[in-house]
Amino acid sequence: MTLDSPLTDVRKIDTKHKEALKRLGLKTVRDLLFYFPVKYEDFSTITPINKMVIGKKNTIQGVIKEIKNSTTRRKNMVITNAMLEDDTGALPIVWFRQPYLESFLKTGTYVTLTGTIEHGYNGLQMTSPAYEKYKEESIHSGRIVPVYSETANITSKWLRFFLKPLLKHAKECPEFIPKSIIDSYALIPLDLALNEIHFPSSKKELGKARKRLAFQEMFLLQIAHLFKRARFQKERATAIPFDEELIRDFVTTLPFTLTDDQKKTAWQIFKDIEKDEPMNRLLEGDVGSGKTVVAALALFLTSKRSLQSLVLAPTEILAMQHFNSLKKLFRKSPIELALYTRTQHHTKDGETTEEELIEKLAGGHIDVAVGTHTLLKQEVSGKNIGLVIVDEQHRFGVKQRAELKKSSTSKTKPHFLSMTATPIPRTLALALYGDLDISIIKEMPKNRKTVQTQLVSPYDREKMYDFIKEKIDQGEQAFVVCPLIEESDTLGVKSVTEEYKKLNTHVFPDVSIDLLHGKLKKDEKESVMQRFMAKKTSILVSTSVIEVGIDVPNATIMMIEGAERFGLSQLHQFRGRVGRGDKQSYCFLFSESPSNTSFERLKTLESVHSGFELSEKDLEMRGPGEVYGVRQSGLPDLKMASLSDATLIAETREAASTIIKESASLKKFPALKRELNSFEKTVHFE
Ligand code: ADP
Ligand code: MG
Repeated sequence: MTLDSPLTDVRKIDTKHKEALKRLGLKTVRDLLFYFPVKYEDFSTITPINKMVIGKKNTIQGVIKEIKNSTTRRKNMVITNAMLEDDTGALPIVWFRQPYLESFLKTGTYVTLTGTIEHGYNGLQMTSPAYEKYKEESIHSGRIVPVYSETANITSKWLRFFLKPLLKHAKECPEFIPKSIIDSYALIPLDLALNEIHFPSSKKELGKARKRLAFQEMFLLQIAHLFKRARFQKERATAIPFDEELIRDFVTTLPFTLTDDQKKTAWQIFKDIEKDEPMNRLLEGDVGSGKTVVAALALFLTSKRSLQSLVLAPTEILAMQHFNSLKKLFRKSPIELALYTRTQHHTKDGETTEEELIEKLAGGHIDVAVGTHTLLKQEVSGKNIGLVIVDEQHRFGVKQRAELKKSSTSKTKPHFLSMTATPIPRTLALALYGDLDISIIKEMPKNRKTVQTQLVSPYDREKMYDFIKEKIDQGEQAFVVCPLIEESDTLGVKSVTEEYKKLNTHVFPDVSIDLLHGKLKKDEKESVMQRFMAKKTSILVSTSVIEVGIDVPNATIMMIEGAERFGLSQLHQFRGRVGRGDKQSYCFLFSESPSNTSFERLKTLESVHSGFELSEKDLEMRGPGEVYGVRQSGLPDLKMASLSDATLIAETREAASTIIKESASLKKFPALKRELNSFEKTVHFE
């Protein structure tokens, strides 16, 4: 038997358990050792009956010796009287109006009870305690007992029983963290950590085991980032030298002065592209912080070096928006601009044909091509692409890069810039995007009006509708966002459709209203958006599909239903859809049944207008998985390490750099290199 032995060789397993193991992806002994408990039952907090404190909450544990219902004569109420016994004594227990307990906790049942001890009619008793059954066996397996996820039809008891004898194989797991790192971060050995994580000898040892296992996971992630980065840096790009005069001249043609953060981030980009290794940078900035002009500065400089650039957007509408804003920003510069999507083909001078654009691109007559992913398809190729910018994405996927290779004929790699409006705190960004350099625009342009935000009480709904009607009569437009109830969308579509009907027939019968949701075809979605942008509709009712960077300056009202269902960051993104013109804009939050916590949470939106601040609050309150979605934005599925543990991230980053400095190819650390290879296979980055 080794670490790699299949679990089916360990012993005979019945079909039910075999299937469950398969569903959990547990094939080998090693897999099982790394299948960690989700929580622990701590029997060390149990008070023996003879040590209970009167008037205080106690948790006691033992066996039910007798239990019996009776009915009071006066109020006809069922009372359940029981006797609980442990090794030190016995205690009467009383419950009211829970007649089923008599058969549920019948004589001989082992239970844990938590409740207050008080003086009753017949001396001390515990009244209406919370109860939980347990198996006698669990006590004997230790004071702190592991509880595994029981979603797959396997009980924790079965797993404990199956796993315990296999733990001796933990010592066959090679120690792959270099000795110097083990010493400087006081990590316990891997085999000890595996033993302690499954069967902790104490809380303290469990803590050390957790730290070791979380450390190794984050450490591997950081090394993987640094490796990727090093690999990328080996590629060659065409250097784009900085020219202060050129840039200064261009900046004077802009209709506004740049903010300090725009200058700073542009400078970071200039410094990158001036090297002959490809830039790989993420530009983060809140909605409306002005990322486009920073991109434009880089595009401008690139075009001056006779290199072409691509600007990729996730949808046709966003591509069109970018094309139009760039056209404005470049109106005084001789830059050949093109829009290339599935349905639209434009140059600066107007509409053209697909064939002509392809020809111009291949001939190098286009400086900047804006488009969707169609720009990456086989037939389209640039002459010499120096810079690629993607909007609303966190990093370039491997697939995109491969597509890009096909579409460019030049020998060198382009510089890469990703832009995102999802504000990610710096430590989290290091964990997620440690392979990228990061630039952050924190400061908003000065002229920006904040969007007046209000959590509206249900009683004020009518008043709100009147207010909205007034604004619409003045020619302004409104968004109404409804939450998706179900991931599968069907219920969500129903609720958004009903909201649409309600507004259309009862609330605003003479206003033109449109409906947008994820079940619509791409073309239908685009045409709904087009109608709204052309002011043909005044109210757009939609699900959260409205989220990405749509710019409709005439829309001044954002009304959000079921606001408690959204995260703060997401609500902030919705809010960013308005307040883009010069009129005062409003965001109204409706919540059906706000609990105290969601009320507090939503209230913060009234006073906090910084996306970064909100995302930090969100992270604190809900954790990164909830906030960013596990699959979305390349969140790796980590087992033990927490993406909000700033200390861990900083420590492992430092440790990873130390090791890479010592041995860039990890030649000195073969065990680590092997571990890294298998880690990269299991963790999904994109
Ligand atoms: P985002 O970061 O969301 O992509 P945009 O680049 O679309 O933001 O900019 C939002 C708006 O702010 C645009 O209308 C743009 O012209 C304007 N803008 C950008 N920078 C400045 C600035 N420094 N001063 C004033 N307005 C600016
Ligand atoms: Mg943008």
